[in-house]
Amino acid sequence: MTAPSFPMFVSVEDARHLLARLLPVKGEETVPLAAALGRTLAQDVAALVSHPSATESALDGIACREADTLAAPVTLRVVGESRAGQPFGAQVQAGECIRIYTGAPLCPGTDAICPVEQLEDVDAHHVRLLRPASRGDVRPEGGDFHAGEVVLKAGLPLTPSRLALVAALGHAEVKVKVRLSVALLSTGDEVVAPGTPLQPGQVYDSNSVGLSAMLQECGCEVVALGHAPDRPDALKAMLREAGGADLLLTSGGVSMGRYDFMRDLLVEHGEVEFWKIRMRPGGPAILGRWNGLPVFGLPGNPVSSLVVFQVIVKPALTGQPLRTLRLKAGTPFKALPDKTAFWRATVLNGEVYEYARQGSGVLRSLSDADALVSVPEGQAVQAGESVEALLL
Ligand code: AMP
Ligand code: MG
Repeated sequence: MTAPSFPMFVSVEDARHLLARLLPVKGEETVPLAAALGRTLAQDVAALVSHPSATESALDGIACREADTLAAPVTLRVVGESRAGQPFGAQVQAGECIRIYTGAPLCPGTDAICPVEQLEDVDAHHVRLLRPASRGDVRPEGGDFHAGEVVLKAGLPLTPSRLALVAALGHAEVKVKVRLSVALLSTGDEVVAPGTPLQPGQVYDSNSVGLSAMLQECGCEVVALGHAPDRPDALKAMLREAGGADLLLTSGGVSMGRYDFMRDLLVEHGEVEFWKIRMRPGGPAILGRWNGLPVFGLPGNPVSSLVVFQVIVKPALTGQPLRTLRLKAGTPFKALPDKTAFWRATVLNGEVYEYARQGSGVLRSLSDADALVSVPEGQAVQAGESVEALLL
């Protein structure tokens, strides 16, 4: 056998980089916020208003001068009321207060709040404060953001809380990157769609569902090609069908088996960027091109395909680094020779524990796991040491 003309056993970082390099740079479009979940911001977003727009109360209670209340219990005269949307405009004098509600503006002369739980009505015009009023319960004008301030930077993916923030800044629409269009195909003679009875030797197609959901979370447009049997002609037809997409993502048929035709096709008739990544699970993945179309072939094992997506494909599609944190290991985590290991793990009380069953076919492990613990080649972790965890 002659040596292959493409790299084999690339590192996790190289795999990510080589995939990202094949993806096109997309243009920009403006979309309503309701259609922007998961999309990538194409420009900085500045606040059109300040928030809060005026100094306001964080609680229901009374607003007064802090200095009048330091010797609490004290009694103050109630001279008015400030409601959200209906402020009290006049000046409050020494010994006076106004009733105030959450989100309502303070009025001139007041600087502190006493919550309703610490008040007793003395009569219709006086309240008794059981504790001093606090400046901490005042939300200063612009405490969240000031008008004109750039609050979100281009390149960020729009999560639900970021979308809420864009709305609070005053925008009904955002400029985002045009979605990457990703064609998705599962392969395997034994693979069938759920919802039909299973014949002996068959398995339900979980990869199409999991990968499609992950692609949507990444803000991609999914072109669902369905499923192809292990036949070169059927796979070639699907490769043609995917031609208009920015990327074809396949699962199955890329390892060493006799019926792994996805790998054979790319090696013999396409161009291969790499085959095999130094990681487990997911080692046999392949990256190549078919008539210019980038093709990323994930392994068929359900855990392998979803883990390679999380670790390699997602950061390449979104341009965002993996979100990892260091946690204390509650159990030891083995290292693998020549590979980065991604162990499924559960997190409890700030410690991370290895999940008992690590087989690549045990999909429940991924559903139960909170994190993937990454252990670099040859750097085993003892219980009590810190590890890098990728939260799922
Ligand atoms: P392969 O990578 O094609 O050799 O497949 C490896 C294992 O993953 C086999 O046990 C397959 O039955 C299983 N498998 C392949 N594709 C899928 C899929 N789409 N959904 C669930 N399991 C799959
Ligand atoms: Mg297969």
